[in-house]
Amino acid sequence: MIRFAILGAGGLGKGMARVVQHKSEFQLVAMADSQGYCYDAEGLRLETIEPLATVANYPECGIPSAQAIMDLLKTHGDSIDAIFMALPNLPVEFFASTVRQILGETPFKGVFVDALKRTQAVEHLLAMDDVIEQSGTLYITGAGATPGFLTTVAAVAAQSFVEVESVDVHFGVGISCWESYKATIREDLIHLEGFDVEKVANMSDEAVEEELNRRNGLIELKGMEHADDIILELAGVCSRDRVTVGGLVDTRHAKKPVSTTVTVTGRTVSGVTGSHQFVLSDETTMVDNVCGPALGFLLRGIQMHRKGIRGLVTSADLMPLYSLEGSRQPASAVS
Ligand code: NAD
Repeated sequence: MIRFAILGAGGLGKGMARVVQHKSEFQLVAMADSQGYCYDAEGLRLETIEPLATVANYPECGIPSAQAIMDLLKTHGDSIDAIFMALPNLPVEFFASTVRQILGETPFKGVFVDALKRTQAVEHLLAMDDVIEQSGTLYITGAGATPGFLTTVAAVAAQSFVEVESVDVHFGVGISCWESYKATIREDLIHLEGFDVEKVANMSDEAVEEELNRRNGLIELKGMEHADDIILELAGVCSRDRVTVGGLVDTRHAKKPVSTTVTVTGRTVSGVTGSHQFVLSDETTMVDNVCGPALGFLLRGIQMHRKGIRGLVTSADLMPLYSLEGSRQPASAVS
C-alpha cells in the first residue's frame, strides 16, 4: 500500500480523499489544513472527513496546530510515501518555500505531486531541482487538469506535426458554491483586469462575493499566466509564447458553462496546417479532471522513485499510470 497524505482539505483536498478511495494501491493516512492535521496509520475514513470544517476535529486523531504541515511531517513523515499538495498558492512562492521547509526539517523521503497553475510558481520549484534530488524525493509539478491532463494531451497530439504553431487551452468549470474552492477562485481573480496578487490576497470573502455578484457569478479568463506554457516549452513541444490558456468559470452552477478543449495546431511533414482538438466530457468535474490525473502522475512517480529516480519533473515528462497492477514489469523481471 502507498501511504498517502493530502495537504489542504478544501475543495480539491476533500475531492482527492473521495477519488483515492477508488484506487486500491493507496491508503489515505493523513490530511492537514490551516487549523490542524489528522494521522491514522490504519487509514482515515472518508465519511468522517467529509463533514469536518477542519481535519483538526477528526475524532481520536485530530490535532489542532497553526503549523499543521510541519507538525504532521516532523512526527510522521517517515511513515508517508506520497503527498498531494492541495494548498492555495498565494503568494506565488508558497509551494516552493513549504517544500524547502519539508525537505530541510522533516524525515519525508517520498513523492510529491501538485496541481499548480501559475508559470512563476513552477519556476520557483524548478530552481529547487538540486535540493529536491539531494533530499531523496521526487516532485511532480503541474499535474492537475491544466497544466497536467491537458498539457500531456497536447504533448502527445504534437507528435503528428513537424512544427507546433500553437496550443490553445480553453476550460469550462462549473461549481455551485465558490466557497468550496476559495483558493481556486481567488487565483482566477488575479488574472482579471484591475486585479493582482496583492489586491486579491487583501480581499475579504465578502469582497470576493461582491465581485462575483457584479459578474453574475461568471469569471471570464483570457491570456492567463499558466504553467502549461513553461511545461510544454521544457518538453520541447513549442516555445511558451505559442501557448494560450483561458476559460469560463461559473461559480453558481455545477454545470460547465462551456466544454473544456485543448487545440494543437501544427504543420505536417507535407507542409499543410492542421489542428487536433480534444474535448473533455461535460459530465466530468474539476475534481475528476484534477484529482484523477494527479493520482495517475503520482503512480508513475512512485514507479520511478522505486527505480531510484529523484528530483523535479513536470507532468509533460511523464505519462500517467491508471493503476500499478497490469503495468509492464521491468525487462529484467520478465525474462
Ligand atoms: P481551498 O481554498 O478550497 O482549500 C485550501 C486548503 O488549504 C484549505 O483546507 C486550507 O485550510 C488549507 N491551507 C491553507 N493554508 C494552509 C497552510 N499554511 N497549511 C496547511 N493547510 C493550509 O483550495 P482549492 O480550491 O481546493 O484549491 C487547491 C489548489 O488547487 C490551489 O492551489 C488551486 O490553484 C489548485 N487548482 C489547480 C487546478 C489545475 O487544473 N491545475 C485546478 C483547480 C485548482
